Amino acid sequence: MAHSVISPSAFDKLWSKCPASASLSAKAPYVATEATVTGSAAHWMAEKIMRQELIDIDPYKHFVGQTYADGEVKITIDKKLVQKSLAYANYVLKKKEEMKAKMLIEEKVYVSEVSDYLFGTADIILIGKDKISLIDFKSGKWPVEVINNGQLKIYTLGAVMRWGDKYKYENVIFQNGKAKETTLDLHDLVDWGLGYLKEKVELALEKNPTEVVGQQCLLCKGKHLCKKYTEFKSNGGNIIWKRNQ
Ligand code: SF4
Repeated sequence: MAHSVISPSAFDKLWSKCPASASLSAKAPYVATEATVTGSAAHWMAEKIMRQELIDIDPYKHFVGQTYADGEVKITIDKKLVQKSLAYANYVLKKKEEMKAKMLIEEKVYVSEVSDYLFGTADIILIGKDKISLIDFKSGKWPVEVINNGQLKIYTLGAVMRWGDKYKYENVIFQNGKAKETTLDLHDLVDWGLGYLKEKVELALEKNPTEVVGQQCLLCKGKHLCKKYTEFKSNGGNIIWKRNQ
């Protein structure tokens, strides 16, 4: 299984709110958009920089003007995007140095104590002497919070299960040139994982999961397969997007 049906990245905004969104979205064909291609290009550039593949090469000269494509959707990399990736890569490399850490890039994380179906790919995991830092790079413009970030908490649960509780665990969101960092309380994290999260996972994996109409429908890739949403729309329903909901 390449991608989890219950994708950690969709937890906060989708399947924690509507259990059916996970399986219906998984049935929808993958469609690349300008936003997804831009995100992939930003991660691709950062990875090359972090792997030291551009020693003595100016990243701006190297990347600006290059075409990055996913199927039919293509973008031309501009200076602003290189700047974002470079800031992120520099932050990670500096932190790695400070922590004297081992760096794992795009590491698969499994959370089998919660469910065999719960896994994902962490952008960066830095393993230091007494601290493990899980870092997620967001290239979109909508600000993403680090406190109570479900995606990073799921990865962290997987990391605790793999490397144990002798470490402090830190979550970082890097976005628009800035890092937001927080240290997690492991007791709270495990309580959350084996309680709230596990319950949400079980609801999402039910044979006929409940469809809950709300703002999440606007982001749901499975909406064309959803009976409740179709009914809602045919009754004249309309959802207005509000931030922070
Ligand atoms: S369209 Fe809305 S109600 Fe239907 S599965 Fe998606 S999020 Fe749930």
